[in-house]
Amino acid sequence: MATALITGSSRGIGAAIALRLAQDGYDIALNDISEAMFEDNDIMEKITACGVKCEKFIADVSKYDHCEEMVKAVKDTFGSLDVLVNNAGITRDGLMARMSEEIYDLVIAVNQKSVFNMTKLAGTIMMKQRSGRIINLSSVAGLYGNAGQLNYSASKAAIIGMTKTTAKELGSRGITCNAVAPGFIQTPMTDKLNEDQKKAILNMIAMKRYGQVEEIAGVVSFLASKDASYVTGQVIEISGGLSM
Ligand code: NAP
Repeated sequence: MATALITGSSRGIGAAIALRLAQDGYDIALNDISEAMFEDNDIMEKITACGVKCEKFIADVSKYDHCEEMVKAVKDTFGSLDVLVNNAGITRDGLMARMSEEIYDLVIAVNQKSVFNMTKLAGTIMMKQRSGRIINLSSVAGLYGNAGQLNYSASKAAIIGMTKTTAKELGSRGITCNAVAPGFIQTPMTDKLNEDQKKAILNMIAMKRYGQVEEIAGVVSFLASKDASYVTGQVIEISGGLSM
């Protein structure tokens, strides 16, 4: 049985990806920064109901030593690591003029350095296996920028460079690396927007609706599948036609 590790997967897009990959037949390694994220949460039950194994691994993916321990524990538990989804991410929005150095550094550490940590560590296992799939969560903010998100858009643009470089470095070992760039997806993040902000956003989207987490999970499932075996170094925008 192949194994997929999805970072930041107790809820939101990460949980939807984990459930979809479980439906595809992968054993699932869930991750989040704290045990509390799995309380009052039925994601593990939903995944095991698919007939696959599921374990949770608590780690702060911005910290290399946490990632090292987690990747080793995943390999020891499941025997292989076939799909890595670098999903964990945070926003700490504010205009650049008012953004503190600490907030800038925090978002870069969680969103960007985590991708280095996890890709380097999982990549080592995948290189020995001579196969693997790495899928990174970028964002339309990384493709086009977004006022109030200098830190976030910097981290998400960096992920695109890291995706292409990883694809070039690991391609000869049978490992693909791609990114998805979601637009506005219905999550607690978008629920927080006020009515005027929601109206302005919907006006920019060709499909006139937010995306659903399952619509991100479906594309990730494709990138992890045999059908995507010759797709690497690509960024797939999933935004309902936000940017045309
Ligand atoms: P979410 O609901 O906030 O879920 C992210 C999860 O990652 C949370 O459970 C979070 O825990 C966890 N996490 C945060 N820091 C972590 C760390 N250092 N180590 C391990 N886990 C950590 O976010 P989402 O909306 O599903 O977004 C998932 C990914 O998609 C992110 O990379 C995001 O940037 C990207 N994305 C989302 C949208 C959107 O519209 N939602 C659009 C474009 C891109 P805490 O709650 O404790 O922080």
